[in-house]
Amino acid sequence: MKEKDWKEEIFKKIRLKLLKRKKQLLKELRENNHKSRSNLCNPCIAGRSYEEDVNYLVDITIPRSKNICKQIEKIDESLKRIDEKKYGICRDCGDPIPLARLEVVPFADRCVSCKNVAEKKKTLIVNGTAVRIDREKAVFI
Ligand SMILES: [Zn+2]
Repeated sequence: MKEKDWKEEIFKKIRLKLLKRKKQLLKELRENNHKSRSNLCNPCIAGRSYEEDVNYLVDITIPRSKNICKQIEKIDESLKRIDEKKYGICRDCGDPIPLARLEVVPFADRCVSCKNVAEKKKTLIVNGTAVRIDREKAVFI
C-alpha cells in the first residue's frame, strides 16, 4: 500500500473516532446543563441551599460545560483539517505529526516541540491566570 493510501485509511479511522467522541461530548454537555437547571429550579429537592447551588453552578457546572465546549471546538477543527487535507501536519513548523501522537491525541494540531513552545508563550501572556492553563493542560495533553 502506498504511504498516502494507508495514511488516508488511518485518518478515516481517526475521523470516526472524533465523531464518536463529539457525540459523547454533546451528550455530556446536555446532561451537565440539564443537571444544573433542574438543581437550580428545585434547590430543596437537591438537598442544598440556593446559595450552595449557585456556587456549585459557578465552580463546577459552568467550567465543566466550558471545558466540554472547548473539546468539541478542537474536534471540529480537526475534522475541518481532515477535510482540507491539512490534518497531521504541524500548524507551526509544517512537519508531519507522528501518527503515534495523533492516535493518542487525535485533535493535536502541533508537533510536540511546537506545542511546548506555544504553551510556554501562553504561560507568559496570561501569567496571572496560570490555573486556567493547568486545567487546559490536564485536558488537552
Ligand atoms: Zn511543529
